[in-house]
Amino acid sequence: MNTEVRPTDLYRLPWSLNDNVLSWLEPTKRCNLYCEGCYSTNDPKSDKTLEQVREDLEDFVRQRTVDSISVAGGDPLVHPEIEAIVRMIRHEFNLKPVLNTNGLALTPELLRRLKAAGVHGFTFHIDSSQGRPGWKDKNEIELNELRLHYAEMVEEVGGLTVAFNSTVFPHTLKYVPALVEWAREHIDIVHNMVFILFRTMRSAEFDYFAHGKKIDGKELVYYDQERNPEPLRAADVINEIRKVEPEFQPAAYLGGTKDPDSLKWLLSGRLASKRKTFGYIGPRYMELVQTAHHIFARRYLAYVAPELLERGRSIMAGFSLVDSGTRRAARSFLKRTLSSPKDLFERVHYQTLLIIQPIDFGKGGETNMCDGCPDMTIHKGELVWSCRLDEKLRYGCFLTACPRPALGSEALPILSQPRAG
Ligand code: SF4
Repeated sequence: MNTEVRPTDLYRLPWSLNDNVLSWLEPTKRCNLYCEGCYSTNDPKSDKTLEQVREDLEDFVRQRTVDSISVAGGDPLVHPEIEAIVRMIRHEFNLKPVLNTNGLALTPELLRRLKAAGVHGFTFHIDSSQGRPGWKDKNEIELNELRLHYAEMVEEVGGLTVAFNSTVFPHTLKYVPALVEWAREHIDIVHNMVFILFRTMRSAEFDYFAHGKKIDGKELVYYDQERNPEPLRAADVINEIRKVEPEFQPAAYLGGTKDPDSLKWLLSGRLASKRKTFGYIGPRYMELVQTAHHIFARRYLAYVAPELLERGRSIMAGFSLVDSGTRRAARSFLKRTLSSPKDLFERVHYQTLLIIQPIDFGKGGETNMCDGCPDMTIHKGELVWSCRLDEKLRYGCFLTACPRPALGSEALPILSQPRAG
């Protein structure tokens, strides 16, 4: 098995600007928490009307075929018309609404109403950078109690997908193995685990310009390089995961817009029971699933329904012939059941582990974005990266990064207009 993960060994996800799995809708910028590094403005007057939300959705479907809409923000649950928004996405636009929330405003009653409105699932963002009331100073392991609370709450109403996002910082990287193990122990109710690497301003290396004018990087919410000298890479998370799951192997990726070696989205599918991981699906599985879905449903697939994720054994039986990762998992499953026949009756689930490495910079200040970004949002009718929407809102353009002049030399002239990316 490969220990180094190279793009050429993986399936390149076929997602593009106008044929993708997701789009990112922000019905509000308001939030009931303030997480370190969050790029939402928390503007109290930012709630969009239903008509504005409809216009955003119309702009999306005009420019982009997708399967699901990530309803984000701010926190979408603070929007007073969130049920109507969910209903609109599901019934007027025939898309899967998935709510990206910190969970704070979620009650069992609201959850039932959202299910009735047509919500497909939830992505809960929970991590130790949030300073949640009652959870301040808790580490990632202690926060598993809160994650479980939400997973169980959603399980109670049934039929909805559950994902957890966690921002990974240099000081929280060490908790990744424990999170991966926790996710396996609750694989029956936790369907996706997402590790998002923090963003760094890198102000020691670059100056930033908007419309040719230098800006103060402190105005932005990127983490400064003083606190995080070295940006994390997807490989750092892979190394941590392999401390508890040496067989961990990603299957598919999205590369960078500038750097062909970068792994911006790294997708893996784990086949496991609550007690044991049998293996990870390989690139052919991912290719067949995405291609078949596109042929039959005319769109790529996001957020598989939970009842299908319980069919780990069918996946092993159906794909072992064509996919090496699935074959390895099936062998491991058979070996286990031979040595412990009672395990034959244990359910095998499929769970996604995803690593996202956001914006990074080339030596000359080129921005390396996710090539085929699934989280594109709408700004004034145009598709823009949601991770850089704050730049558009604050400065009216994307920022340009220029390497800082060496000490004692002249400042670099700005020769070109600011550009996207
Ligand atoms: S480019 Fe930005 S918004 Fe798009 S997927 Fe990557 S991190 Fe997310």
